[in-house]
Amino acid sequence: MKHDSKIALVTGGNRGIGLEICRQLAQKGLHVIMGSRSQSKGESAAAPLQAEGLNIEVLPLDVDDARSIDQAVAHIQTQHGQLHVLVNNAGVFLDSEDPQRGSVMGIARSTIENTFNTNVYGPLQLIQAVLPLMQSQHEGRIVNVSSGMGQLENMGGGSTAYRLSKAALNVITRIVDAELDSAQSNIKINSMCPGWVKTDMGGEHATRDVAQGADTAVWLALLDADGPSGKFFRDRQELAW
Ligand code: NAP
Repeated sequence: MKHDSKIALVTGGNRGIGLEICRQLAQKGLHVIMGSRSQSKGESAAAPLQAEGLNIEVLPLDVDDARSIDQAVAHIQTQHGQLHVLVNNAGVFLDSEDPQRGSVMGIARSTIENTFNTNVYGPLQLIQAVLPLMQSQHEGRIVNVSSGMGQLENMGGGSTAYRLSKAALNVITRIVDAELDSAQSNIKINSMCPGWVKTDMGGEHATRDVAQGADTAVWLALLDADGPSGKFFRDRQELAW
Protein backbone atom coordinates (compact mmCIF):
# COMPACT_ATOMS: atom_id res chain seq x y z
CA MET A 1 0.00 0.00 0.00
CA LYS A 2 1.82 3.16 -1.15
CA HIS A 3 0.60 6.51 0.16
CA ASP A 4 1.26 9.97 -1.19
CA SER A 5 0.64 11.35 2.29
CA LYS A 6 3.15 11.24 5.12
CA ILE A 7 2.85 8.37 7.55
CA ALA A 8 2.69 8.62 11.35
CA LEU A 9 2.72 5.95 14.06
CA VAL A 10 1.10 6.88 17.39
CA THR A 11 1.46 4.44 20.29
CA GLY A 12 -1.44 4.07 22.72
CA GLY A 13 -3.63 5.64 20.06
CA ASN A 14 -6.89 4.00 21.10
CA ARG A 15 -7.87 6.46 23.86
CA GLY A 16 -6.98 9.63 25.70
CA ILE A 17 -4.36 12.01 24.33
CA GLY A 18 -3.10 9.41 21.84
CA LEU A 19 -6.51 9.12 20.18
CA GLU A 20 -6.68 12.89 19.83
CA ILE A 21 -3.15 13.02 18.36
CA CYS A 22 -4.31 10.43 15.78
CA ARG A 23 -7.35 12.57 14.96
CA GLN A 24 -5.40 15.82 14.60
CA LEU A 25 -2.61 14.27 12.49
CA ALA A 26 -5.17 12.62 10.19
CA GLN A 27 -7.04 15.94 9.91
CA LYS A 28 -3.74 17.45 8.73
CA GLY A 29 -3.68 14.91 5.90
CA LEU A 30 -1.35 12.24 7.26
CA HIS A 31 -1.94 8.51 7.01
CA VAL A 32 -2.07 7.59 10.70
CA ILE A 33 -1.18 4.20 12.07
CA MET A 34 -2.95 3.90 15.41
CA GLY A 35 -0.91 1.59 17.65
CA SER A 36 -3.22 -0.24 20.04
CA ARG A 37 -2.38 -3.17 22.24
CA SER A 38 -5.93 -4.44 21.73
CA GLN A 39 -6.92 -4.73 18.07
CA SER A 40 -10.63 -4.58 18.94
CA LYS A 41 -10.28 -1.47 21.15
CA GLY A 42 -8.26 0.15 18.39
CA GLU A 43 -10.89 -0.69 15.78
CA SER A 44 -13.69 0.70 17.97
CA ALA A 45 -11.72 3.91 18.55
CA ALA A 46 -10.78 4.29 14.89
CA ALA A 47 -14.24 3.60 13.44
CA PRO A 48 -15.80 7.06 14.05
CA LEU A 49 -12.69 8.76 12.69
CA GLN A 50 -12.66 6.54 9.61
CA ALA A 51 -16.37 7.32 9.15
CA GLU A 52 -15.42 11.02 8.95
CA GLY A 53 -13.11 10.07 6.09
CA LEU A 54 -9.90 10.27 8.10
CA ASN A 55 -7.04 8.08 6.95
CA ILE A 56 -6.46 5.82 9.96
CA GLU A 57 -5.19 2.26 10.17
CA VAL A 58 -5.10 0.17 13.36
CA LEU A 59 -1.97 -1.80 14.16
CA PRO A 60 -1.60 -4.14 17.17
CA LEU A 61 1.25 -2.79 19.29
CA ASP A 62 2.07 -3.53 22.91
CA VAL A 63 5.13 -1.45 23.78
CA ASP A 64 5.93 -3.73 26.75
CA ASP A 65 6.52 -6.57 24.32
CA ALA A 66 9.74 -6.49 22.27
CA ARG A 67 8.32 -8.93 19.73
CA SER A 68 5.19 -6.85 19.25
CA ILE A 69 7.38 -3.81 18.48
CA ASP A 70 9.47 -5.80 15.98
CA GLN A 71 6.33 -7.12 14.27
CA ALA A 72 4.71 -3.67 14.09
CA VAL A 73 7.78 -2.04 12.56
CA ALA A 74 8.23 -4.95 10.14
CA HIS A 75 4.62 -4.45 9.05
CA ILE A 76 5.23 -0.74 8.45
CA GLN A 77 8.40 -1.53 6.50
CA THR A 78 6.62 -4.10 4.31
CA GLN A 79 3.31 -2.31 3.81
CA HIS A 80 4.49 1.29 3.57
CA GLY A 81 8.29 1.27 3.23
CA GLN A 82 8.43 4.62 5.01
CA LEU A 83 7.57 6.36 8.29
CA HIS A 84 7.76 10.11 8.80
CA VAL A 85 6.47 10.50 12.37
CA LEU A 86 6.70 8.45 15.56
CA VAL A 87 4.75 9.66 18.60
CA ASN A 88 5.72 7.71 21.72
CA ASN A 89 2.49 8.43 23.57
CA ALA A 90 1.60 5.16 25.35
CA GLY A 91 2.20 5.49 29.06
CA VAL A 92 1.24 4.22 32.50
CA PHE A 93 1.05 5.86 35.90
CA LEU A 94 1.31 2.88 38.24
CA ASP A 95 2.15 4.95 41.34
CA SER A 96 -1.56 5.76 41.49
CA GLU A 97 -2.18 2.12 42.49
CA ASP A 98 0.42 2.28 45.29
CA PRO A 99 -0.96 2.80 48.83
CA GLN A 100 1.67 5.53 49.45
CA ARG A 101 1.17 7.10 46.00
CA GLY A 102 4.66 6.08 44.97
CA SER A 103 6.59 7.62 47.87
CA VAL A 104 10.33 7.15 47.36
CA MET A 105 10.44 5.69 50.91
CA GLY A 106 8.50 2.59 49.96
CA ILE A 107 8.06 2.32 46.23
CA ALA A 108 8.29 -1.31 45.09
CA ARG A 109 11.04 -2.18 42.65
CA SER A 110 8.45 -4.03 40.55
CA THR A 111 6.39 -0.83 40.16
CA ILE A 112 9.44 0.96 38.81
CA GLU A 113 10.30 -1.95 36.50
CA ASN A 114 6.76 -2.20 35.12
CA THR A 115 6.59 1.56 34.61
CA PHE A 116 9.94 1.57 32.81
CA ASN A 117 8.80 -1.23 30.48
CA THR A 118 6.02 0.96 29.09
CA ASN A 119 7.32 4.51 29.53
CA VAL A 120 11.02 4.02 28.76
CA TYR A 121 12.09 0.70 27.22
CA GLY A 122 9.19 0.56 24.74
CA PRO A 123 9.79 4.08 23.40
CA LEU A 124 13.55 3.45 23.18
CA GLN A 125 13.11 0.20 21.25
CA LEU A 126 10.67 1.88 18.89
CA ILE A 127 13.09 4.72 18.22
CA GLN A 128 15.85 2.19 17.51
CA ALA A 129 13.53 0.26 15.19
CA VAL A 130 12.26 3.21 13.12
CA LEU A 131 15.46 5.25 12.82
CA PRO A 132 16.83 3.21 9.87
CA LEU A 133 13.62 3.96 7.92
CA MET A 134 13.82 7.65 8.78
CA GLN A 135 17.52 7.79 7.94
CA SER A 136 16.97 6.16 4.56
CA GLN A 137 14.28 8.71 3.66
CA HIS A 138 16.28 11.65 5.18
CA GLU A 139 13.29 12.76 7.20
CA GLY A 140 11.78 11.96 10.57
CA ARG A 141 10.01 13.53 13.51
CA ILE A 142 9.98 11.75 16.87
CA VAL A 143 7.84 13.05 19.72
CA ASN A 144 8.24 11.66 23.21
CA VAL A 145 5.15 12.37 25.30
CA SER A 146 6.73 13.14 28.66
CA SER A 147 5.55 15.10 31.68
CA GLY A 148 6.44 18.03 33.87
CA MET A 149 6.65 15.36 36.58
CA GLY A 150 9.94 14.30 35.00
CA GLN A 151 11.33 17.82 35.02
CA LEU A 152 14.45 18.03 37.22
CA GLU A 153 14.06 21.77 37.63
CA ASN A 154 10.64 21.29 39.18
CA MET A 155 11.03 17.93 40.96
CA GLY A 156 8.58 17.10 43.75
CA GLY A 157 7.91 14.10 45.98
CA GLY A 158 5.77 11.01 45.39
CA SER A 159 5.00 9.26 42.06
CA THR A 160 8.58 8.01 42.09
CA ALA A 161 8.22 5.43 39.32
CA TYR A 162 6.46 7.84 36.97
CA ARG A 163 8.86 10.72 37.69
CA LEU A 164 11.89 8.48 37.13
CA SER A 165 10.43 7.13 33.89
CA LYS A 166 9.64 10.52 32.38
CA ALA A 167 13.04 11.91 33.39
CA ALA A 168 14.60 8.86 31.68
CA LEU A 169 12.46 9.42 28.58
CA ASN A 170 13.75 13.00 28.47
CA VAL A 171 17.31 11.67 28.66
CA ILE A 172 16.56 9.44 25.67
CA THR A 173 15.44 12.54 23.76
CA ARG A 174 18.75 14.23 24.55
CA ILE A 175 20.94 11.22 23.75
CA VAL A 176 19.24 10.48 20.43
CA ASP A 177 19.46 14.14 19.48
CA ALA A 178 23.15 14.18 20.41
CA GLU A 179 23.86 11.14 18.24
CA LEU A 180 21.90 12.46 15.25
CA ASP A 181 23.02 15.57 13.49
CA SER A 182 19.46 16.85 13.13
CA ALA A 183 20.39 19.62 10.66
CA GLN A 184 22.06 17.09 8.38
CA SER A 185 19.78 14.07 8.94
CA ASN A 186 16.51 16.06 8.99
CA ILE A 187 15.45 13.85 11.91
CA LYS A 188 14.16 15.75 14.92
CA ILE A 189 13.34 14.38 18.34
CA ASN A 190 11.68 16.35 21.10
CA SER A 191 9.95 15.75 24.44
CA MET A 192 6.69 17.42 25.36
CA CYS A 193 4.37 17.74 28.35
CA PRO A 194 0.66 17.84 27.52
CA GLY A 195 -0.27 19.54 30.81
CA TRP A 196 -2.90 18.07 33.13
CA VAL A 197 -5.43 16.53 30.76
CA LYS A 198 -8.87 14.98 31.32
CA THR A 199 -8.27 11.34 30.41
CA ASP A 200 -8.41 8.05 32.30
CA MET A 201 -4.91 8.89 33.57
CA GLY A 202 -5.45 12.60 34.27
CA GLY A 203 -8.88 12.16 35.87
CA GLU A 204 -11.99 14.29 35.74
CA HIS A 205 -10.53 17.22 37.71
CA ALA A 206 -7.80 17.86 35.15
CA THR A 207 -7.76 21.37 33.71
CA ARG A 208 -7.28 20.63 30.00
CA ASP A 209 -9.19 18.79 27.32
CA VAL A 210 -7.52 16.32 24.98
CA ALA A 211 -7.37 18.84 22.13
CA GLN A 212 -5.17 21.13 24.24
CA GLY A 213 -3.15 18.14 25.45
CA ALA A 214 -2.46 16.92 21.92
CA ASP A 215 -1.66 20.28 20.32
CA THR A 216 2.07 20.51 21.10
CA ALA A 217 2.69 16.87 20.14
CA VAL A 218 1.06 17.45 16.75
CA TRP A 219 3.04 20.67 16.24
CA LEU A 220 6.30 18.82 17.00
CA ALA A 221 5.30 15.95 14.67
CA LEU A 222 4.96 18.41 11.79
CA LEU A 223 8.02 20.63 12.37
CA ASP A 224 9.67 22.20 9.37
CA ALA A 225 13.28 21.34 8.51
CA ASP A 226 14.49 24.38 10.48
CA GLY A 227 12.50 23.42 13.59
CA PRO A 228 14.02 22.56 16.98
CA SER A 229 15.41 19.19 18.10
CA GLY A 230 16.55 17.86 21.46
CA LYS A 231 14.22 20.18 23.40
CA PHE A 232 11.33 19.94 25.88
CA PHE A 233 8.03 21.79 25.28
CA ARG A 234 4.64 22.56 26.76
CA ASP A 235 2.13 24.78 24.92
CA ARG A 236 4.71 25.10 22.11
CA GLN A 237 7.03 26.91 24.55
CA GLU A 238 10.41 25.51 25.53
CA LEU A 239 10.72 24.13 29.07
CA ALA A 240 13.83 23.74 31.20
CA TRP A 241 14.83 20.09 31.73
P1 NAP B 1 -4.61 7.18 29.25
O1 NAP B 1 -5.90 7.83 28.99
O2 NAP B 1 -4.44 6.33 30.47
O3 NAP B 1 -4.21 6.33 27.95
C1 NAP B 1 -3.01 5.60 27.95
C2 NAP B 1 -2.83 4.95 26.61
O4 NAP B 1 -1.59 4.22 26.65
C3 NAP B 1 -3.93 3.93 26.29
O5 NAP B 1 -4.19 3.93 24.90
C4 NAP B 1 -3.29 2.62 26.70
O6 NAP B 1 -3.80 1.48 26.03
C5 NAP B 1 -1.87 2.89 26.25
N1 NAP B 1 -0.93 1.93 26.81
C6 NAP B 1 -0.63 1.69 28.10
N2 NAP B 1 0.26 0.69 28.18
C7 NAP B 1 0.52 0.28 26.91
C8 NAP B 1 1.34 -0.70 26.33
N3 NAP B 1 2.09 -1.53 27.07
N4 NAP B 1 1.38 -0.81 24.98
C9 NAP B 1 0.63 0.01 24.21
N5 NAP B 1 -0.20 0.94 24.69
C10 NAP B 1 -0.24 1.08 26.03
O7 NAP B 1 -3.43 8.25 29.34
P2 NAP B 1 -3.28 9.71 28.69
O8 NAP B 1 -3.64 10.68 29.74
O9 NAP B 1 -3.90 9.76 27.37
O10 NAP B 1 -1.69 9.76 28.56
C11 NAP B 1 -1.00 9.72 27.32
C12 NAP B 1 0.44 10.12 27.57
O11 NAP B 1 0.45 11.45 28.12
C13 NAP B 1 1.18 9.24 28.57
O12 NAP B 1 2.50 9.03 28.14
C14 NAP B 1 1.15 10.06 29.84
O13 NAP B 1 2.21 9.73 30.71
C15 NAP B 1 1.25 11.46 29.30
N6 NAP B 1 0.76 12.51 30.20
C16 NAP B 1 -0.56 12.57 30.54
C17 NAP B 1 -0.99 13.59 31.39
C18 NAP B 1 -2.44 13.74 31.78
O14 NAP B 1 -2.75 14.64 32.58
N7 NAP B 1 -3.36 12.94 31.26
C19 NAP B 1 -0.08 14.53 31.89
C20 NAP B 1 1.26 14.43 31.52
C21 NAP B 1 1.66 13.43 30.66
P3 NAP B 1 -4.95 0.50 26.69
O15 NAP B 1 -6.27 1.16 26.34
O16 NAP B 1 -4.73 -0.80 26.01
O17 NAP B 1 -4.70 0.46 28.17
